[in-house]
Formats: sequence, C-alpha cells, structure tokens
Amino acid sequence: MSSIAFIGLGQMGKPMASNLIKKGHALTVYDVNKITMSEVQSLGSKSSTSPKEAAKGCEFIITMLPNGKLVEEVIFGQDGVIHSIGKGSLIIDMSTIHPLESDNLRNRLEKHNVEFMDAPVGRTSDNAITGTLLILAGGTKTQINRTSPILLCMGSEIVDAGGPGRGIRVKLINNFMSISLNALSAEAAALCEALELPLDIAIEVMKGTPAIKSHFTTTWVNKVLKNDLTPAFMIDLAHKDLSIALDVANQLHVPLSMGAAAREIYSQARAVGKGQLDWTAILEQTRSNSGLKNNNP
Ligand code: NAD
Repeated sequence: MSSIAFIGLGQMGKPMASNLIKKGHALTVYDVNKITMSEVQSLGSKSSTSPKEAAKGCEFIITMLPNGKLVEEVIFGQDGVIHSIGKGSLIIDMSTIHPLESDNLRNRLEKHNVEFMDAPVGRTSDNAITGTLLILAGGTKTQINRTSPILLCMGSEIVDAGGPGRGIRVKLINNFMSISLNALSAEAAALCEALELPLDIAIEVMKGTPAIKSHFTTTWVNKVLKNDLTPAFMIDLAHKDLSIALDVANQLHVPLSMGAAAREIYSQARAVGKGQLDWTAILEQTRSNSGLKNNNP
C-alpha cells in the first residue's frame, strides 16, 4: 500500500483516485472544488487544504489538471507541493500539457532533488471509471518499475515511451492524429450526407480500407517505410480522385478544409516530379517540406 497525494479530481482525476482507494492505497486529495473533494473523501480518502498539505508525508504525488500553468502552480506556488515533499518522493504528472512545460518542471524539480515523471493517459473518462486507461509512461526504467503497481490501478496497459519526457510527446502525437482525424471524419460524413448516401454503408466500405484502418498499418508498411516508392497507387491518381471529391463537394456547397489542405500536399508532390510515385511518397513530401532528410530521391 502506498501513500499518495492526488491533486485534481475532475472528470478523469476523480475516478482515477477512486480506483486507487478501492485498491487499498492511502490517498490524500486536493482540488479547488470542495464538493468534488468531499465526494472523494467519502470513498475513504483524506481531504487537504492545499497541495502543500496533501503532499506532506506521501511517497507519490499525482497531478491530473487541465493545463501546464496549473500543474506549475500546484507544484511551485505559494502553497505548492515543493514546500512539503519528502526526500525520495516522486511527482507523477498525468495531465496533458505542453512537452516543453513538462521538461521545464522536470528540470526545475531536479535542482530541488525531486523526481518527476510524465505519465499522461490515453482513452477517455469511461476508461478512467473502469480502470482501463492506457498509460504513456515517460520516466526512467526505475521510475516506471516503481510506479507500475499504482499506475495499473488506474489503467490496464502501460507503454514505456522510452525515457523522461517521451510519454507527453507520444500523447501529443496520438492526440494530433485522433483530433485531426475527428475533423477529417466529420468532413467525410458531411459529404456523405450531402450525397444522400447512408453513413453506415460508407463506414462498412471504409472499414476495409486505409480510410479507417490507417495508412501507418496498411499502405506504408511495405512501401514508403521500406523505401519502395514504385507505385501501387500513384500520386497523380490520388490527386485526381481527391480533386473529384472536392469538386463534387463544391457543387453541393460542402466546404472540405481538411481535404483541400491535403490536396495541396499532393499538388506539391506533383510539382516536384513525384506524380508517378506511390501515394505513400506523401510522407517524403511532408518530410521534405519540413526540412527533414529524405531517404528517397
Ligand atoms: P476537468 O476539468 O474535469 O478536471 C480538472 C480538475 O482540476 C477540476 O476538478 C478542477 O477543479 C481541478 N483544478 C483546477 N485548478 C486546480 C488547482 N489549482 N488545484 C487543484 N485542483 C484544480 O479535466 P479532466 O477531463 O479531468 O482532464 C484532466 C487532464 O486529463 C487534462 O490535462 C486533460 O487534457 C487530460 N485528459 C482528459 C481526458 C478526458 O477524456 N477528459 C482524456 C485523457 C486526458
């Protein structure tokens, strides 16, 4: 059984703290919202009046807060964790914050000889309730081994992201993909509706294609990721098909911002002579636009 300070008892933090309590850990909780704090207290935790009071005597301090500024305030503020944290205790920030803010916190804490790891979570508040979060652990091997027993009370899977700061970075990539895909999916659904096509039929079709299965795990595997850009499906043809979709959408007055932006990248690839390459060469085009070194000509 570990002694844990849990700070931030919102949509995510409250069920996460509850699961730690259910598994027998001794929790001291803090939230600026006194109502939510007393609800968690009634499950068997101790309430506190500040992050400083919560952290006193605890082996682990978990923060689950809306943004980096608040995490900083909770740690370094006037009533912050830093003023009471004991030797050998470890701060685990599970919030989603900017990676540079997270690095900055780790570096500042290092100067105080306080250990810090980033361990943001994947999935949603439903998974927080069922204890099935995906935990993206950014810490040393020792930190991950040490924290695994408590992390596994809140999640069903821990991914070792490869070192300090990498958990929050892999979270950023995951959110970039899923949040952008949400908008792209909405464009596909809106076009579908404008075409009076049932969405369930479109979903059934896309389930078997990279549209839903993802390019990472289908088209890229044996092509661009293996430096083979001989065409299975050419950039020129992809550009033509996307242009037809944009034209149809235009006639139906359906704006497709994401689709139009994607076509520009295909146009750039064609402009530099990549039209006859496999469509996965879009990765090479994007890397080249970013000044990254290309593996392929
Ligand atoms: P939330 O807004 O529901 O909860 C935040 C909690 O922090 C609130 O209870 C609030 O009162 C408390 N708080 C604010 N300032 C505070 C302070 N100074 N001291 C103590 N407590 C304070 O947010 P959430 O949905 O629980 O998200 C928390 C974090 O988890 C965010 O970084 C979010 O991006 C991330 N996240 C959320 C989800 C999700 O599905 N909601 C999924 C994955 C990750």
